[in-house]
Amino acid sequence: MQMKPDKNIQVARTQLELRQCIQAAKTQGRSIGLVPTMGALHEGHLSLVRAAQRECDFVVVTIFVNPTQFAPHEDLDKYPRTFDEDLDALSELAVDLVFAPDQEELYPHGFSTYVLPPAVAAPLEGQYRPEHFRGVATIVLKLFNLIPAGIAFFGQKDYQQCQVICHMVKDFNIPIEIQVCPIVREADGLAMSSRNRYLSPEDRLRALALSKALDAAVAGFRQGIRDCSTISGYMDQILRQAGVTEIEYATVADASTLQPIGCIERRSVALIAARVGTTRLIDNALLVPE
Ligand code: AMP
Repeated sequence: MQMKPDKNIQVARTQLELRQCIQAAKTQGRSIGLVPTMGALHEGHLSLVRAAQRECDFVVVTIFVNPTQFAPHEDLDKYPRTFDEDLDALSELAVDLVFAPDQEELYPHGFSTYVLPPAVAAPLEGQYRPEHFRGVATIVLKLFNLIPAGIAFFGQKDYQQCQVICHMVKDFNIPIEIQVCPIVREADGLAMSSRNRYLSPEDRLRALALSKALDAAVAGFRQGIRDCSTISGYMDQILRQAGVTEIEYATVADASTLQPIGCIERRSVALIAARVGTTRLIDNALLVPE
């Protein structure tokens, strides 16, 4: 285990180092909170850390860019890596432990076992990124096995991912509580994302259309509109007017199964995935009837 000399934070690079730190925390009777991330941390990630610190005595943040959730044509190599700045931010928050293994540590030669993700992984992201949730479920299960946390914290920003993890936890009887934390946004509404840094200034402006479209969906819903094609139509129109034309989906789904619905009768969610320039962005908003 490393204590970074210039940063006041413990960093475990291997499973062995991790196990030693966890053992020490458990011996002290501390409750463990887990915040999995891929690094390039922003306020969205830090909000999960703060939530974990409110509820747990020993907070572990993992930083690992998980190769199995990227398709060959996706941005694994290009994914932002800002480890030094990440450690600064986490040491400022006095995080107890960072687990930052290299790829070999978690996927050694011969690795071949994957989680078959639950049905909720199939629509939406599953249509456009067919292997993505297999990789997500696999790495999250590995982290749950490595870090015996009482609570793991995830962001609503990745709404479908949260549902995939909740279903996996239930189906596999994993003894962990999942807490879903609210989406943290920039002042102008853009949902924070590690990928926002890829946006050119013009694309950054166009990207605002995602949160604006979701605002319109929520406003329509509050005014009593329950027909999903009407709400999707509003979202589509706002995206296209802003020049966001590469829309993968802008739709309303059942909040639990993520299956498409025609009419909002129970807890639902509006979700958007669209390409702005070369950057793929996602965002969502809950639509909850009284
Ligand atoms: P990532 O590093 O993108 O894998 O994200 C790690 C965790 O941070 C996931 O649970 C995300 O849902 C969460 N997260 C990412 N962006 C935000 C945001 N803007 N607000 C809240 N949580 C977020």
